[in-house]
Amino acid sequence: MNYPESGGSIAQIGEEVSIRKTTDCEVVVIGSGPYGLSAAAHLRAKGMDVRVFGRPMEFWAKKMPSGMLLRSPRVASNISDPSRQFTLDAYERAAGIAPIAPVPLETFIGYGQWFQSQLLPDLDEREITSVRRIDGGFAITLENGGDFRAERVVVAAGIEPFQKIPAVFAGLPPAQVSHCYQGCDVGAFRGRRVAVIGAGQSALESAALLDERGAKVELIAKIRELRWIGQHPWLHRLGPLSSMLYSPHDVGPAGISRLVAAPNVVRQIPLGLRDKIRTRAVRPAGSRWLPARLSGVQLTTGRFVTQANCGKDEIELKLDDGSRRRVDHVLLGTGYTVDIGRYRFLSAGVLRQVSVMDGYPRLRSGFASSVSGLHFTGATAARTFGPLLYFVAGTEFASRELTTRIEKTRRQHR
Ligand SMILES: Cc1cc2nc3c(=O)[nH]c(=O)nc-3n(C[C@H](O)[C@H](O)[C@H](O)COP(=O)(O)OP(=O)(O)OC[C@H]3O[C@@H](n4cnc5c(N)ncnc54)[C@H](O)[C@@H]3O)c2cc1C
Repeated sequence: MNYPESGGSIAQIGEEVSIRKTTDCEVVVIGSGPYGLSAAAHLRAKGMDVRVFGRPMEFWAKKMPSGMLLRSPRVASNISDPSRQFTLDAYERAAGIAPIAPVPLETFIGYGQWFQSQLLPDLDEREITSVRRIDGGFAITLENGGDFRAERVVVAAGIEPFQKIPAVFAGLPPAQVSHCYQGCDVGAFRGRRVAVIGAGQSALESAALLDERGAKVELIAKIRELRWIGQHPWLHRLGPLSSMLYSPHDVGPAGISRLVAAPNVVRQIPLGLRDKIRTRAVRPAGSRWLPARLSGVQLTTGRFVTQANCGKDEIELKLDDGSRRRVDHVLLGTGYTVDIGRYRFLSAGVLRQVSVMDGYPRLRSGFASSVSGLHFTGATAARTFGPLLYFVAGTEFASRELTTRIEKTRRQHR
């Protein structure tokens, strides 16, 4: 059954009503990464009829390099649940895993999947292929063609479609040029020449992992000097003064870190300044445990690629200083640009109605977009609520705020 988007014929709307009676749900959550799982757990705890879709922790399991370590500190790597019981520590205790820092990727994936099995055992792994607006609600289509209707939609679909591909690499064969967010089997590059482009955590950590697995790696970064998170460790050892400068989430430099931890304050800051705070807090940098692991990687900084030509088995890169490189593969650690227009499941009708600011949805309190009943959480909310929303640590604020708002509206309606 395909529901008509708002404005369909009376006969079609009649059909829609009869289906609504049997399959309606109050809230559908799209995505089962940290933000989707957390939002669904909070909404359920308030007695709402919630359906959550997607393969649990898929982005982490399939799109991040094996052997990766989390950049966020342990205390900032908890997925928020209403009782604060389903923490990373609780998972490790239940699974008999010794707590270590930094947190290994495999532990975090296991944690997310355990969180799901404990709190959302009826999660539906199917992909949602379409969300359309119908009178007062949304028509949802699933990958197998099934349809149902929901009163509200929470989009927690992550950043995978937002990969930033510099123009010079656009259209080149994926076998020779890939983005870090497409998943990288580092072991497959043993003995091969790989150019990694970028200076952020993804690029730096991928370069280290590739080198450790026997690839010949060159990292090419535009910035003149690579940056490392926590370059001034003494600032973290000043007792109460340090707590005034840094929140435990550790997102952003001294002072900004504290501000970032208060997303409702960030939301009140004029957009221009808010954008500056956001970009400063997440500028490209690597964890402080990375420099030692990069000793075998050729680091070329202050340079960028101006041309990339694919031959049969290799790629020739020309840099802005005129020098050339021949490599077997280029791995782009060039980050992402949020653009909700790239969520293919949102219909053209819905996208036309969502007010956006350069690809980010314009949100109000409760993560509500300009379309009544449509909410966005995770990275897409970072332009409104600040950079905490790019990280797992933001699930606590996001899920509580979202739930409070939905519950309030629900009470008013009833
Ligand atoms: C290399 C790398 C390292 C990172 N390290 C850290 C870190 O150490 N700490 C940290 O806090 N953050 C880190 N991040 C950021 C991290 O991506 C986010 O914090 C986190 O994944 C956000 O969770 P999410 O639920 O919004 O998105 P995701 O984890 O991406 O989850 C979104 C989910 O939605 C599903 N989905 C998408 N579309 C649909 C659909 N149509 N139907 C059904 N399901 C759908 C996807 O399959 C996916 O599982 C890192 C990111 C990268 C790329």
